[in-house]
Amino acid sequence: MTQDKKFSQVLDLSKKILAEYDLCDNCLGRLFAKKLHLTSNKLLGKKIHKKLKIQNKKCHICKNAFDTVHFYLEKMQSASSQYQYKTFLVGAKLKPSVLDRDDHIRSQFKLKGIDAVKTSITREIAKQYSKKIHKKPVQQDQDLTITVDFKTESCEVHSKSLCLSGRYVKPVRDVPQKQKPCQNCLGKGCVTCNHHGMAEFDSVEGMICKYIFEKFGAVQAKITWIGGEDTTSLVSGKGRPFFAKITNPKKRKVTIPKTVISNKIKIHNLKQIAKIPQGPIPFRSKAVLQITTEGQITPESIAKLDELNNNTVAIYEKSGKRSEKKIHSVSYVINSPNSFTLKMSLDGGIPLKHFVSGDDVFPNVSDLMSNKSKLEQFDFDEVSTR
Ligand SMILES: [Zn+2]
Ligand SMILES: [Zn+2]
Repeated sequence: MTQDKKFSQVLDLSKKILAEYDLCDNCLGRLFAKKLHLTSNKLLGKKIHKKLKIQNKKCHICKNAFDTVHFYLEKMQSASSQYQYKTFLVGAKLKPSVLDRDDHIRSQFKLKGIDAVKTSITREIAKQYSKKIHKKPVQQDQDLTITVDFKTESCEVHSKSLCLSGRYVKPVRDVPQKQKPCQNCLGKGCVTCNHHGMAEFDSVEGMICKYIFEKFGAVQAKITWIGGEDTTSLVSGKGRPFFAKITNPKKRKVTIPKTVISNKIKIHNLKQIAKIPQGPIPFRSKAVLQITTEGQITPESIAKLDELNNNTVAIYEKSGKRSEKKIHSVSYVINSPNSFTLKMSLDGGIPLKHFVSGDDVFPNVSDLMSNKSKLEQFDFDEVSTR
């Protein structure tokens, strides 16, 4: 069918539709633009209105929402002003009645394969906003999502989360690894904790987060740990690896020094990564354990620990799950008749206290030495992922 023939069909149907409903250029053009392979709904609508000598006053579908786009552009710009971004995506919340009227007309006149009013208006906003701020509208993987709400005449902005990897060294004792959540909101974020979900920053987690919040203009972040330690443990060497996911960061391009000192800890090699690896990450630690025993330690009994060299231990969890981990090497020094230091290189995931006392881990220190033993303190010299 020729383009002229198609257009005259469009005029016929438009006449029928406009006899019942007043439509704006955008909404009218939208009903036929795809059929005619045209890109501008507005120009097509204008042309049809002109040909039929019909004027639009108040659009039955959108109530002239397209005329209010400029009003939202200002709001979008001020809501986004604090964010660093290259690409954006526009979303819209329309009154359900607008969507209903759009659906109704499309089904009444059996119009298929055309854009919905929501698609059309978000595209128009994105086009005009892009022109205004010289940034690129995209359909996925956008730095910034801007949601225009026609119901409340407001707009909301949310940026794509950023992922980081790094390592921390804890050179002093008495710093817990994890931060206690804010007592008021239990970690969700509230006015009391400035929406951080934590009210204090006196743990490794708190100190990492504090640095991230300031650097990236963020309010919340989630840390993924490679293994854990006690409040009293030191972490030395290259440090323990961790990942962080930053929610809604305002800044995306920041320069981070090779080593960051955040209160009592040092963060090494903190850098942006594409994504955080999924699932458990195998790792190996070099740990130094300070152990006390009920009975006296003899050279013969402590020599039994040599059996752990290059051996596997079985771990029984309360759930009934059994797992096996490897101990790669052990060495020990007797400090007093009832205490010794045990150095081990071992797979991550062995519960050290249970491994010493003998609960649910086999073989274990207490059984091997036939001497009830207790883990007093442990430090990490190295944590490495493979
Ligand atoms: Zn309209
Ligand atoms: Zn709170």
